Amino acid sequence: MEVIDKVKTRVYRFGNKKADGNSKMKNLLGGKGANLAEMSSIGIPVPPGFTITTEVCTEYNALGQEEVVALIKDEVEQAIDNIETLMGSTFGDIDNPLLVSVRSGARVSMPGMMDTVLNLGLNDEVVLGLAKKTNNEQFAWDSYRRFIQMYGGVVLGMKPASKEDIDPFEEIMEHLKHKRGITLDTEFTVQDLKDLVYDFKEAVKKRTGHDFPTDPWDQLWGAIIAVFNSWNGDRAVYYRTMHGYPADWGTAVNVQAMVYGNMGDTSGTGVCFTRDAGTGENVFNGEYLINAQGEDVVAGVRTPQQITKLGSQRWAELAKIEEEDRAKDYPSLEELMPSIFEELNGYQDILEKHYRDMQDMEFTIQDGKLWILQTRNGKRTGAAMVKIAMDLLKEGMINEKEALLLIEPNKLDELLHPIFDPAALKRAHVMAQGLPASPGAATGKIVFFADEASKFKNSILVRIETSPEDLEGMNIAKGILTARGGMTSHAAVVARGMGKCCVSGAGALKINYKTRTLTVNGHEYHEGDWISLNGSTGNIFEGKVATMEPELSGEFAELMELASVYGKMNVRTNADTPKDAKVARSFGAQGIGLTRTEHMFFEVDRIKAMREMILADTVKGRKQALEELLPMQRSDFEGIFEAMQGLPVTIRLLDPPLHEFVPHQLTTQKELAEEMHISLQAVKNKVAELEEFNPMLGHRGCRLGNTYPEITEMQTRAIIEAALNLKEKGINCRPEIMIPLVGTVREFEAQEHIIRTTANTVFEEREDTVDYLVGTMIEVPRAALMADAIAERAEFFSFGTNDLTQMTFGYSRDDAGKFLPVYIDKGILKVDPFEVLDQEGVGQLVKLGTERGRSTKPDLKVGICGEHGGEPSSVEFCYNIGMDYVSCSPYRVPIARLVAAQAAIKAAQ
Ligand code: ADP
Ligand code: MG
Ligand code: MG
Repeated sequence: MEVIDKVKTRVYRFGNKKADGNSKMKNLLGGKGANLAEMSSIGIPVPPGFTITTEVCTEYNALGQEEVVALIKDEVEQAIDNIETLMGSTFGDIDNPLLVSVRSGARVSMPGMMDTVLNLGLNDEVVLGLAKKTNNEQFAWDSYRRFIQMYGGVVLGMKPASKEDIDPFEEIMEHLKHKRGITLDTEFTVQDLKDLVYDFKEAVKKRTGHDFPTDPWDQLWGAIIAVFNSWNGDRAVYYRTMHGYPADWGTAVNVQAMVYGNMGDTSGTGVCFTRDAGTGENVFNGEYLINAQGEDVVAGVRTPQQITKLGSQRWAELAKIEEEDRAKDYPSLEELMPSIFEELNGYQDILEKHYRDMQDMEFTIQDGKLWILQTRNGKRTGAAMVKIAMDLLKEGMINEKEALLLIEPNKLDELLHPIFDPAALKRAHVMAQGLPASPGAATGKIVFFADEASKFKNSILVRIETSPEDLEGMNIAKGILTARGGMTSHAAVVARGMGKCCVSGAGALKINYKTRTLTVNGHEYHEGDWISLNGSTGNIFEGKVATMEPELSGEFAELMELASVYGKMNVRTNADTPKDAKVARSFGAQGIGLTRTEHMFFEVDRIKAMREMILADTVKGRKQALEELLPMQRSDFEGIFEAMQGLPVTIRLLDPPLHEFVPHQLTTQKELAEEMHISLQAVKNKVAELEEFNPMLGHRGCRLGNTYPEITEMQTRAIIEAALNLKEKGINCRPEIMIPLVGTVREFEAQEHIIRTTANTVFEEREDTVDYLVGTMIEVPRAALMADAIAERAEFFSFGTNDLTQMTFGYSRDDAGKFLPVYIDKGILKVDPFEVLDQEGVGQLVKLGTERGRSTKPDLKVGICGEHGGEPSSVEFCYNIGMDYVSCSPYRVPIARLVAAQAAIKAAQ
């Protein structure tokens, strides 16, 4: 460890319109501390206090308690001295006591950090002094019992022993309330409060074996150390690991003079927002409680009242309360304390302008004087996020770049898919949890078989896993739920493409196809029972939960417009049908980066011809079946070209192992045998023959086209003929033919040769030509390494990062569900590499492949078409290494466009 710097500042003070720190110092002072400093220096009334820096937390972890206390003792004592001077009271003094709060605060808000301790500095003597000084015994004893409760819980570890137990202090309070026949904390008499204090201290003694600390300084150091310890608590470590926050960030400790909202009817406490966090509407709003302290407002013990009269009236309408009763029983702060309200209204305005973003604030009124205790950029819904950003821009508070940077890309998802009605969601019961595979909300009746999806008007398809055969049913169902499979399982990928809600890999589900039942934790559900899915969280609910359709606002369109202005990288879409292509275009896709031709073969009339082709033993037989498929493929391509109106369309030649196309059920095998006039045994033999030990590494990709060149020939013909047909109609097409799974240059050359020869034949037949490109997917690590040689011939690269991730890690995409969750749980992996591109490892291959490819062909067009093409951090990576475009599922297009703009702005800064 480096030498300890004895002279650097470890304690930053704030108060009385001055501060040592400011809002830019979040890394050193934590978010809360930095903003307290900032507010103080711009003249907002903040109770004076100080912040012990995050660096001290790191020093504590290295040096231990004794040395660290010695290191900061003088500074802390002087800082307390400073508070005493400003507040005119003394810490630990019996006649005129100063009390403080101790608040944790890391650079980002983090669950698992120590909860705040209020009213620190009280003991049996000081409480008497406080009562006398304020002439308010009730208040003094209420503060004391709160203090023991909070200190006992968060510093002395007096938490409930198990999750079924109630808090030991709550238990004592409940007991007394019951005995006294009262329900509210505010109904306790002074004697009750004194009894509570006594009982609380007894409970502490019994549980910890020590007396409750009486010396205020002992209390203070105990609380400071507890904050440092909480940084390494289980919950905090878990959260840190999950988000990749390093351990040496540390947390700051804020110590601040107490102001009291519990001093009676002229006091209170509340929270407020400068704009509506739900809708984004520009209205000041919030809640407060009279005669309350700390978290009482959010704790839900009493019904909080609204801050503005408008808000109060809106609230009363929803709660079905008459105006007369509202004004009498639940008046707004605006009505009850007009001058305090005016002052607060002024501060919210100042703070929003100062921070140039919606603020979430905490305040306390002590005996008619207003104090602000916290401000931060407020959390908000996706809809509010977009509205607020665009409103702030129009109000001239921020510029275009800032507006774009205010958007959290993934949150746009909320706007594009159905959501649950918030009121219905509150009553809903979560029955199990899976992976949030494809966002949105869905409710419907359980069906277990894809071909029965239309049995009910609203159905949820529940499967152990899905296969390409289920495509049609998946399209009909409102949502898809699977027991197996990860974020890139068949169900997940297809659902995202369709923009359909999907929860995958819900391991707790036991599905029995025979009895048509679904069992979860001993509870049985049947076909036709209602369930609901939240594809954005992975929650599975019992019963029907009402959903609401999304509505794209004008602000959303304006935002996307802005994204186009700043985004330099193109965004294409992965689309297999004209419908997908149209949806994606409406979201602003600038082409198709991946059309998977195999999906076209699964439709009823086509699968037959496809199977005949696979089952044929001779080239002649195969060619015959391909003849049948040709017109169907051609018309598919025509549809897609037409939808894209001249934008580039990348079409991948047949990719999956043929085994996926043959029937596996006896009944379908029989049908096929009859149709083809061959024996059932012959069908069975062929199916068995196609079985592979490792299909992902087997006979697939360009290995198909190279062993059965007639397939490539047919597909090329379909593409080129489709393009020529549209050309005749006056529609421009830009086909880009993509050869999958290339590992060696020869593989590419052999396929390219077939493509070019076929195209030339068609050109001669038609006496016309179209421009087209031949390129490849880079998805085998060897291809990335050989990229310079491949680029001699290939006219474009598209990184297939699903397979590239699979092969670089050696994780089978279809089996990763068994170990990836455990790896993430144990922190071996931070995130699922199939979801978020592994920039460190797989990213190297992407970067190197791009560089090597361009070393041969400087203007080589490079894109990405894996699932990562719609994931924000991966999109940013693609921009930074100089890709021409990313391609993602239609519903991710707006997100990718936004990230492309943000990446360009960030890179220029
Ligand atoms: P959190 O990070 O959970 O919001 P806070 O440190 O903000 O925790 O504190 C919890 C509650 O205690 C808040 O309502 C806050 O306003 C209140 N509080 C914190 N410090 C003081 C203080 N010095 N005087 C009065 N109330 C305080
Ligand atoms: Mg707070
Ligand atoms: Mg692939």
